[in-house]
Amino acid sequence: MSRARLIVLNSALGPLDYRVPQGMTVAPGSIVVAPLGPRQLIGVVWEPERLPTEEVGDNRLRPLLHAYDLPPLAAPLRRLIEWTSDYYLSPIASVLRMALPSSGALDGARSITEYRATGHVPGRLTPQRAQALERIGDRMGLVRELAIIGGVSDGVIRGLVKTGAIEAVEVAIDDPYPVPDPDHDPPALEPAQTDVAARLHEAVDAGRFAPFLLDGVTGSGKTEVYFEAIAESLRHSRQTLVLLPEIALTEPFLKRFAARFGAEPVAWHSGLRQSQRRRAWRAIQSGEARVVVGARSALFLPYANLGLIVVDEAHEASFKQEDGVQYHARDVAVMRAKLEEIPIVLASATPAIETRHMAETGVYTELKLPDRYGGARLPDMAAVDLLASPPDRGRWLAPELVRALEENLDAEEQSLLFLNRRGYAPLTLCRHCGYRFQCPNCTAWMVEHRFTRRLACHHCGHIMPTPHACPKCKEEDSLVACGPGVERIADEVATLFPDARAAIVTSDTIWSPAKAAEFVARMEAGEIDIVIGTQLVTKGYHFPNLTLVGVVDADLGLSGGDLRAAERTFQQIQQVSGRAGRGDKHGRVLVQTHDPNAPVMQALIGGDAEGFYAAETEARRLAGMPPFGRLAAIIVSSEDQAEATEVARLIGRTAPRHDNMAVFGPAPAPLAMLRGRHRLRLLVHAARAVPVQEIIRTWLDALTFPRSVRVAVDVDPYSFL
Ligand code: ADP
Ligand code: ZN
Repeated sequence: MSRARLIVLNSALGPLDYRVPQGMTVAPGSIVVAPLGPRQLIGVVWEPERLPTEEVGDNRLRPLLHAYDLPPLAAPLRRLIEWTSDYYLSPIASVLRMALPSSGALDGARSITEYRATGHVPGRLTPQRAQALERIGDRMGLVRELAIIGGVSDGVIRGLVKTGAIEAVEVAIDDPYPVPDPDHDPPALEPAQTDVAARLHEAVDAGRFAPFLLDGVTGSGKTEVYFEAIAESLRHSRQTLVLLPEIALTEPFLKRFAARFGAEPVAWHSGLRQSQRRRAWRAIQSGEARVVVGARSALFLPYANLGLIVVDEAHEASFKQEDGVQYHARDVAVMRAKLEEIPIVLASATPAIETRHMAETGVYTELKLPDRYGGARLPDMAAVDLLASPPDRGRWLAPELVRALEENLDAEEQSLLFLNRRGYAPLTLCRHCGYRFQCPNCTAWMVEHRFTRRLACHHCGHIMPTPHACPKCKEEDSLVACGPGVERIADEVATLFPDARAAIVTSDTIWSPAKAAEFVARMEAGEIDIVIGTQLVTKGYHFPNLTLVGVVDADLGLSGGDLRAAERTFQQIQQVSGRAGRGDKHGRVLVQTHDPNAPVMQALIGGDAEGFYAAETEARRLAGMPPFGRLAAIIVSSEDQAEATEVARLIGRTAPRHDNMAVFGPAPAPLAMLRGRHRLRLLVHAARAVPVQEIIRTWLDALTFPRSVRVAVDVDPYSFL
């Protein structure tokens, strides 16, 4: 009898054995449907010897129900899924899920029914219906998707379908994608760029595992150069995956790619509609999608013929996934390249210390582009000492920065003010009784958003209207905003320069690729004088007329005090500085700080990246911190504080002893409450050679926890909250 061992898409279940019915053929990687009790589950056939489990007798096996007519997941992807599951201590089913789409795409339907507005206005236009129609505009999607866009229930959308205001349309999902042409419009490379492109060319031709660190200052042409590698991969008819850290960067990337290759690449991110997702998934697994640009989730897709991976802005912390499978996409990407035996390019102007270390030890090949393209100079950097020349009372921009903004306005050049804080003010309190608005679900202040007149928690999304009176002492108009967010800076700009055209760029205003495109168009048309933005504006954009960058609070990122605080501050300021003076005009950067003598500020102002990195790396080496040692966090959470504490203590008490390994905690996490759950942390710190994952697995597997307690392990943590 023929048997098959499956991983089914249910993280609570281990491997399961089934009978393969007569007439069905499956191989490792085949995607199938299996019965489980009264239900049907999607699963993938796996090599039984790689998934040991208790043998079940032939007579007790149920037959598989269906095998999809799709190529099996290839061996390198299966090994990647296993590796990710082992390394990040996550159920293999949770990792596998990222490789598979919804069942719709598996069926291979050629079309899908979507809905769109007809322009007909229904007789009974309730406020909800009006809101839905206005927000939907000319967009299409499933009923569920339109309901989300419209901010209404599915029922409202269905009602609109009945009235004829919204209609059903069949959308083809197997239309071919246009094929990018490697020779559509190649640039003439400069000598340094030519050398680097030649190295990448060679690596793509060789088709072996080869990790590269492409290290070049902002504006040096890293993108142009890795485009040459993509061109070569296209000539070999192989697929390329480009990972970007934020969805917001996809839109400008698609345009730029299309200008170079004559066709847009295939996008993959959480903003896609179901129909787009299905079409993309099918094209990726058939090999028809030649170049895929995506967020981290694109990493686990079943590429038919992957030939090259590029990770752009490879130092970005957003490549680390913080919930579900807590993997680092940069590290998993390198592993995928290794298993697929293909080259990978990590591009960055400010490579992470971990990546630099790999280059220094010769594991990665470092390729450098030391100068900006076309002789453009890097901007001048200067510190503004907030203690020596502070802003006026109740203001946040120091006189020197205000003067610089004024000069830029006079010169009709654009400026950017960077502050990594959304909303109006990070803290609101009552000046009468001192009451502070705290999130009921989190250890966090409610952040005022003045435009929408709301207080919002940036951790759990809890919102409330901004009240007129203090909820505690009932005093009217007694609430005061403490500290600045981007909205408050925008207010200050409006007061200082009433005629300047300002724009706020945060995830509140740029929440879709279309919004990002609109922002780019307005900048390019010169319709914006001053941009006030969060980290969303630090990357990717190229505005030749932007010549001044003001960093409103350079000390902000240092206060957390975690392992990477200084490094992150350095990267972020360096990155946002890279937006200044990218064209013919020279740029300058003013960095507001209370401590201009801090080593990280000195390194930024003095342009001494090498010195800064050397000092940081040495500090990490001495402390045995990554990449010289290992860290793993264990986070225990429960709605019941006593229960969470008890479990955390149990874990602490049973901590195994090992040479070169220490376990700290449990202690309340800095975010002691998050989304209504109380949280405690333990931190495991070990030397590189210690098999931390194996130790933690054995340790936690021996314990049992109440179902209401969640125990999550974060291997190589980036967040210390
Ligand atoms: P990076 O990715 O290192 O920030 P980019 O590739 O975005 O740099 O290049 C910066 C700017 O210079 C872009 O507008 C790019 O099109 C332009 N550029 C770079 N190299 C060339 C080249 N060889 N020919 C024409 N334009 C170039
Ligand atoms: Zn909250």
